[in-house]
Amino acid sequence: MPGEFDLIARHFTRSVKRARLGVGDDCALFGCTPGQEWAITTDMLIAGRHFLPSDGPGTIGHKAMAVNLSDLAAMGAAPRYALLAIALPSDDEKFLRGFAGGFFGLAQKFGVEVIGGDTTRGGLLTLSVTALGEIPEGQALRRDGARPGDDVWVSGTLGDAALALAHHQRTVELTTDEAVACFPRLYVPTPRIELGLALRGVATACIDVSDGFAADLGHILERSGVGAEVAFEALPLSAAAAAHQHEPAARDCILAGGDDYELVFTAPPDRRARVEAIAAALALPVSRVGGVVAGAGLVVTRAGAAMALQHRGFDHFGDVEPQA
Ligand SMILES: [Mg+2]
Repeated sequence: MPGEFDLIARHFTRSVKRARLGVGDDCALFGCTPGQEWAITTDMLIAGRHFLPSDGPGTIGHKAMAVNLSDLAAMGAAPRYALLAIALPSDDEKFLRGFAGGFFGLAQKFGVEVIGGDTTRGGLLTLSVTALGEIPEGQALRRDGARPGDDVWVSGTLGDAALALAHHQRTVELTTDEAVACFPRLYVPTPRIELGLALRGVATACIDVSDGFAADLGHILERSGVGAEVAFEALPLSAAAAAHQHEPAARDCILAGGDDYELVFTAPPDRRARVEAIAAALALPVSRVGGVVAGAGLVVTRAGAAMALQHRGFDHFGDVEPQA
């Protein structure tokens, strides 16, 4: 295995413009725009758990960056910097080249400078990315701002990434067309950065769907000390999800499947026109799926009756559902 410095130099060093100092010293140096504050997030991905070792290196790189940018989107932060720590079972040049392509490709799209990181030899391919974004002071979209009477909104469609995984695991059988539509949602998710930025001053609370709609909306409800009522019929579904929605496994994908990276947010009813104008400007559909109520917990109704929500989402220390 060539030296660590060699690997970093060859695959992970890019010139920086915004940062004062990037990769190559003991620390990176960067400033903060006056009047803004930092949002910082970190996410770890492990082979066999968050992706399959057989997945394309480019998609693994894309996803490692995307899941972190999605957390910045959920806070309404403008992405600025990222750091990457990577444990590699072996020095696989082809993997590293592909990985860097996907990782830096998405970083570049959102103006993110990769300013540091670490590489080490490890038994399981493990990736830890830290991302930093800026938000005007006090304008972050937090989880604790939902109030009774607010609407509950969801961007894009729910369940497609989980349907792709379910198709892999043969619990749902998609047609070829459906699989072609769902697979990019699992492998190359799109962080909803522009939506998060536009929702500053509009949404009262916001989260990205990484663990599943019910679980992630549940996090907002818990932090805000409120409950919510959502109609299953109002949930935004792709053609594939709509076609399979009556199968229990597909219904679980829609309500509890992770990896969609859509935004779930709340806003008062007098901001409906603003939310719809944002969606139109971004050409990204948003759907009003229910309302926040006093109390606690989430009730999802279907044909007017409350559904049993057994699968509350992907709990890393509870239901163990490794991908491989
Ligand atoms: Mg999140």
